[in-house]
Amino acid sequence: MFNLNDFPLPFRDTDLVPYMSADTVRIHHDKHLGTYIANLNKMIAGTKYANMDLREIIVNATNDSNAQKIFNNAAQVFNHEFFFNCLGRGNGDVPDILSDAFGGADKFIEQFKSVAADVFGSGWVWLIHDGKNFQIVATKNADTPIAHKQKPILTLDLWEHAYYLDWQNRRGEYVDAFLQFMIDWKFVLSNMEF
Ligand code: MN
Repeated sequence: MFNLNDFPLPFRDTDLVPYMSADTVRIHHDKHLGTYIANLNKMIAGTKYANMDLREIIVNATNDSNAQKIFNNAAQVFNHEFFFNCLGRGNGDVPDILSDAFGGADKFIEQFKSVAADVFGSGWVWLIHDGKNFQIVATKNADTPIAHKQKPILTLDLWEHAYYLDWQNRRGEYVDAFLQFMIDWKFVLSNMEF
C-alpha cells in the first residue's frame, strides 16, 4: 500500500508564486498525485504487484499487457514524486556539467524548450542519462524513463493540470518560467552523482 503522506511536498505551496500558484501546487499534489496513489492501491491489491516497490511495479508492468492501468498509475506516482523534488525557487543558472555536455547553457535551454514545444497532448520532458550521455527526451502520457532503463535527472510535467490555472494556453511561458525560476538545481545535481 502506498500513502500520500510518504510523498510529502518538499517545498511550501507558496514558494513558486507567481510562476506556480499555491492552488496549482495543492491540487496537483493532494488531488492528482493522491488519486494516482489511491487508484494504484486498488489495482494492485491481491495481485503479484502488491508487495513490490514502485520501481519494481513499473519495470514489471511495462512488459505485462494485462497491467497497463497499473503501469500508468505507478508511473504517474513515480513521475510526480520526481517532479515535485525537481521544483524549488531556482536562479536559472544551468550547472557547468550540463553546459559542458550541451555545448553551452543557452544550448541546453534551447534544446529543452524545443523538446517541450514538440510534445503534443499530455506528457513529460526529461533530462536523462543513458549510461553514456545526457539526453533531453519527451515521454507521452504516463511513460517514464524508468521503463526504458534511463536514469532521470530532471523533469517537467506538461499535462495541462500542471499549468492551466496559472498559464492557460501559454504553455511555452510555463516552460520558460520553469527553466528560469522553478528548478531546484541542488536536487538535479544530486541525480548526477554517478
Ligand atoms: Mn501532473
